Amino acid sequence: MVSIENFNFAGKKAFVRVDFNVPLDENFNITDDTRIRAALPTLKKILADGGSPIIGSHLGRPKGPTDKFSLRHILGHVSELLGVEVQFANDCIGEEAAVKAAALQPGEALLLENLRFYAEEEGKPRGLAEDATEEEKKAAKKAVKESQKEFTKTLASYADCYVNDAFGTAHRAHASTALIADYFDADHKMFGFLMEKEVKAVEKVMKNIARPFTAIMGGSKVSSKIDIIENLLGKVDNLIIAGGMTYTFTKALGGKIGKSLVEDDKLDLALELIEKAKAKGVNLVLAVDAKIADDFSNDANTKFCPVNQIPDEWEGLDIGPETEKKFAAVIESSKTILWNGPTGVFEFDNFTSGSRSVGEAIVKATANGAFSLVGGGDSVACVNKFGMADKVSYVSTGGGALLEAIEGKTLPGIAAIEA
Ligand code: AMP
Repeated sequence: MVSIENFNFAGKKAFVRVDFNVPLDENFNITDDTRIRAALPTLKKILADGGSPIIGSHLGRPKGPTDKFSLRHILGHVSELLGVEVQFANDCIGEEAAVKAAALQPGEALLLENLRFYAEEEGKPRGLAEDATEEEKKAAKKAVKESQKEFTKTLASYADCYVNDAFGTAHRAHASTALIADYFDADHKMFGFLMEKEVKAVEKVMKNIARPFTAIMGGSKVSSKIDIIENLLGKVDNLIIAGGMTYTFTKALGGKIGKSLVEDDKLDLALELIEKAKAKGVNLVLAVDAKIADDFSNDANTKFCPVNQIPDEWEGLDIGPETEKKFAAVIESSKTILWNGPTGVFEFDNFTSGSRSVGEAIVKATANGAFSLVGGGDSVACVNKFGMADKVSYVSTGGGALLEAIEGKTLPGIAAIEA
């Protein structure tokens, strides 16, 4: 594996997989271009060296070619940000793409049409009848896997080297995110700058851990976080449980939770996790009080109460002030911090206090030398909402990819480059 910093792209064509899956409004205006900006250092380095990036991405979840998910909509903005007029191929594997890729001169760039217009990108069959038999499903899967090889080979044929800068899709073994790497030797495939930063940040919290290491797991459900929690129990010193999960744990311990969010089929699991934490010497930190509401709404009546004494007809929508203090004390004395998921329904302004206080404690710890990684959809929205993104060590762009990495899984997009 080579590093992008040391690679000289002069005269070379690079297939660059980026994540330009940006939100568009009904007039196809980009409403948030963070993901495009995140890939600029890589694309600019290739151009500055005198290389030619051939840019591949997905946009949305198309079932086939459709104007709605055409990358043409973002071409102008990409050109503007890159400072060169980026060319466009209307089909990522057609004759036009091959001709345009071959004709690219040093310093010129080509954006390919949405890779997911082809089922071969994901390698999953499309258009199967709902009543398809198991045999038909198997045959369709086999067929798409077969044609995926040709698709991948075609994409690879455009370029002299491969750069993966799409951390957001690193947990997918798709044609352009992983399989394509097989067509390049170790000296001609590499991570882009963004991917490199993401991989380093994950390694820092998973491998080179400065202690104490504290993870704050918030969000809605235990069921969606169970694998991560189990994996973290073998690594962290403190595990703070927040958000909707709080009430499953509280109920499991015999508390009264009113009509708070709960997963009744996960009560035993919550008790098991408490036991596992004990056995591993992990300090499992649970909420002691809650901000409760008489309706799931920003305008509901609210009050504070002990987390295990929530009256019937009331529900916990955030942590209370005692819990804020308890969590902050643990966070502020930590040297490595991972935050995933809000402490409450932070989308409602009246229930942001807990998430904000966790963010503030992380910012304080970071200023005192801790390494803090914030990742996974909603916690990123939190730090952005509170203006804290540049006061933590690293905000990951990967949702599912980051969570799978923390679960301890090998990400195909990373493995394909490191192999
Ligand atoms: P997740 O995607 O699992 O990280 O969950 C994030 C969502 O959990 C956010 O939309 C929050 O509003 C929600 N959430 C956090 N705390 C609670 C709570 N106490 N009750 C209901 N939803 C919650």
